[in-house]
Amino acid sequence: MVELRAGDRVPEEFVVEHDGVRCLEQRGNGACVALDPATQLCTIYETRPQTCRDFNRGEILCRRILLTTRAA
Ligand code: SF4
Repeated sequence: MVELRAGDRVPEEFVVEHDGVRCLEQRGNGACVALDPATQLCTIYETRPQTCRDFNRGEILCRRILLTTRAA
């Protein structure tokens, strides 16, 4: 789950709060809600949170959860 920082600007419908911390919501399979399940691309790539940028999310790291859950 990606925690949001002060400067992050993501659609509010993707946001959930856990213990007072704003995060990107996850789907039932653990994938980020911003990851399009059909294309497996980040739908907010240009405005993705700083944490995603710092850890080079948006490529295989985001898709790996989907690939792992499909194989299970
Ligand atoms: S880069 Fe990945 S984790 Fe970050 S918002 Fe996009 S789909 Fe979600």
